[in-house]
Amino acid sequence: MQAPRNPTRPVRVGSVTIGGGHPIVVQSMCATKTTDVEATARQAEALSAAGAGVVRIAVDSHKDAKALAAIRELTQANLSVDLQENYRLAESVAPHVQKIRYNPGHLYHHEPSRPWQDKVRYLVEVATRHGCAVRVGVNCGSVDPAKREKYDPADPLAPMLQSALEHCELLDRLRFDQYCVSLKHSDPARVVIVNRRFAEQRPDVPLHLGVTEAGMPPEGIIKTQIALEQLITRGIGDTIRVSLTVPNWRKHEEVEAGRKILADIAAGRLLGSSGTNEGGLNIISCPSCSRVENQRFVELADKVRELTRYAAGYPLTIAVMGCRVNGPGETDEAALGLWCGPDYVNLKRAGTHLGAFSYEEILPRLKAELDALIAAGTKRV
Ligand code: SF4
Repeated sequence: MQAPRNPTRPVRVGSVTIGGGHPIVVQSMCATKTTDVEATARQAEALSAAGAGVVRIAVDSHKDAKALAAIRELTQANLSVDLQENYRLAESVAPHVQKIRYNPGHLYHHEPSRPWQDKVRYLVEVATRHGCAVRVGVNCGSVDPAKREKYDPADPLAPMLQSALEHCELLDRLRFDQYCVSLKHSDPARVVIVNRRFAEQRPDVPLHLGVTEAGMPPEGIIKTQIALEQLITRGIGDTIRVSLTVPNWRKHEEVEAGRKILADIAAGRLLGSSGTNEGGLNIISCPSCSRVENQRFVELADKVRELTRYAAGYPLTIAVMGCRVNGPGETDEAALGLWCGPDYVNLKRAGTHLGAFSYEEILPRLKAELDALIAAGTKRV
């Protein structure tokens, strides 16, 4: 039997409400270039038609912001904007969207001398003026380094958790209640722990659940389902996203997977921890977005999965990311990390950058590094 849902506050995002006992909303994100107005509007419509209650679009530049205004004219979807480093773009995009997502770990890049509290105050003022909801989106790969240093390394989830709690406190002090929080990690077990810890302290705040860089289907869906079912059956979670590495024309599968996960949980069809390669080789890859630097990224992630099947029994993580914005940080904890540039792929081993290789050279080089790790004594599980 499912526990009653946590008594979260309702947060209005256009025509849907997150929290407050409303049905759990499935979300997704466009992976097209935001400046490609037609393709992005088409994808927003396709995601919406598949059942996405909110569709997110990344905005990195004034050009993106201008494109978003044009996209708004072409779709009825409830739109959320993903602000990256340039939080100031909120002003230009807020009139066209229903929700603003900011990442506390990215507020430090732009105008570093300005306190983050001032930046949040500005975002709240913009959101209030335009009737937008806000998501405080904390991500394991982009936690503020100053926060990391502050907490016991034995508790690696503390910086994420404290960052979210700190932002909630400030939003409360500003008397802004139209916000939700997400705490995403690529490890489903950690998603469960950090969200449970947050929900214990703030059962009133609606939670957006997801496993970041879950990877390709079916593994990405299974990882997500394992985390989500452990949270939703405990009454935690008001909106979800299944992040999958799939080509643009298959992006609607994220929404279908999300709906199926919710239906399975409601019917008591739970996975437990079955279906994962428990303790063996773990491939994580981002779902891509408008920042992806080469359209060969999805194909590359798929080739990495195929190439490394022979190492399935080794407890190693290989991370494949689509861009230079988040790639370096998101690959930090992986044994081997790759992130795309326009014409080359960066390779990192245990946090050390080994160089940039062409799309043709990268796979043999990756294999050589993987073989070396195995030869150096990585034990099979
Ligand atoms: S790693 Fe880059 S391309 Fe991939 S989802 Fe994140 S921002 Fe987008």
